[in-house]
Amino acid sequence: MTSPTRSSSVQAKARRDCFDAHKKQDEIGNIYLVCHLCEGRINPAIEPWIAEHAVRRAVGGSDAPSNVLPAHQKCAREKDRVDISENARGKRVSDKHFGIVKKRGFNRRRDMKLNWQAGRYEGGR
Ligand SMILES: [Zn+2]
Repeated sequence: MTSPTRSSSVQAKARRDCFDAHKKQDEIGNIYLVCHLCEGRINPAIEPWIAEHAVRRAVGGSDAPSNVLPAHQKCAREKDRVDISENARGKRVSDKHFGIVKKRGFNRRRDMKLNWQAGRYEGGR
């Protein structure tokens, strides 16, 4: 996943660092990368690839080359999709479980009336 706050030059540097750290060379001298998601070979000259955080930055992953791994663009998209839905689900559950999400306002009784002058609800039994 790319963030709009990261400039293209930062991304270019991350990709270059990733490439330099993880590039491999086969027996006939072709440079290639290995997708850390599907473990397939990436031909960086002709296949779209991205420098991917193995541990997402959102959960404390670093920008060190050991954590920034090459991946096919299509594999990374699939992972992002899964991560986002899992992340959102986990967040919702913990928000409820730990009382992070509070009900807005309060439950006033139906028979109460708002007193605009006093700025409060009044009445009822
Ligand atoms: Zn892949």
